[in-house]
Formats: sequence, C-alpha cells, structure tokens
Amino acid sequence: MSKAVYCEKCSKEIKFRGDLVTATIFFVVVAYHEDCYVKELKGFRGLFLDNQPLNGFSGNFLFVMAVLVGIGFAFGSLKWVSIIAVIPVLYRLFSFYKFERLLEK
Ligand SMILES: [Zn+2]
Repeated sequence: MSKAVYCEKCSKEIKFRGDLVTATIFFVVVAYHEDCYVKELKGFRGLFLDNQPLNGFSGNFLFVMAVLVGIGFAFGSLKWVSIIAVIPVLYRLFSFYKFERLLEK
C-alpha cells in the first residue's frame, strides 16, 4: 500500500476511499476528490468528463446491471450487446484496480 492516489484537479493526495470519485475523461479513468469532481464537472473539462462516477452507489448499480446484461445476452443471438455491456464492467474493474484498492475505507 505504498502507492498514493493523486487528484486529477488539485494534484493533492486522496487519502480515503470515501473522498474518492473516479470517472472517465476521453475514455481514461481518472481520480478526483469528491469536491474537486463537482467543481471539475462545472468547469471546461466537465464537457468531456463523464458525470456518472465509476465508484459509489450509481457506479456499482451500473456494474451489476452491465454484468447481468452481459451474461444474459452472451447466450442469445445478440452477442454484440454483451460485448458493449462488458465495457463499463472493465472500466469499473480498472477503477478499482488502479485507485480504490490503494485507499482505506
Ligand atoms: Zn482534489
């Protein structure tokens, strides 16, 4: 646990998981303080920043839905739907691997 997580906006360290918001900007997963994320959404970069955080309740809800859709369509004739559904799952796992697992709850 030596790797620190730094905020994309203010460049300061993010110390707790509760203060961490991860989202995608140009398909890259980035980390913010909760306050910085809100400010960033209102700023210029907010135009490109996904206003749906990857972590937290809504992210986890989407994650579960995407997994279910992915599994549901994998056995049908619409396999491409499950491929699309896998993309948010991969983002969610990447967010966890890159940022969330490094922080204490
Ligand atoms: Zn910050």
